[in-house]
Amino acid sequence: MHEVSIALGMVDELSRIAGENNAKKITFVKLKIGKMSGIVTDSLKFAFDAIKLEHPLLSSAEIFINEVPLMYQCNDCDYTFETDDIYFPSCSKCNAYNLKLISGEEQHIESVEVEV
Ligand SMILES: [Zn+2]
Repeated sequence: MHEVSIALGMVDELSRIAGENNAKKITFVKLKIGKMSGIVTDSLKFAFDAIKLEHPLLSSAEIFINEVPLMYQCNDCDYTFETDDIYFPSCSKCNAYNLKLISGEEQHIESVEVEV
């Protein structure tokens, strides 16, 4: 499962953040995940909740995932729209394929709350 390796990477990154801040534990983690990333947010949350139990620093960390919609702007008519089509999106106004990605590729930690 792809999400398990992402959760493991998160744990590494969060341990590093905790170390840098001399934190006793991490209490809250907010993630930003775009639709385009292909990550199943429920699976990621499940994987993280399982893995965190092995890490005293993270065992009480709550995770919140901010899902970012896939949005494009049409280069032909300037129309901005949201879509679920990650493979062959076209403008929902003029059907052009000449599009610019505005959001949906995000895959990062947005904020972390720690207890020191
Ligand atoms: Zn258009």
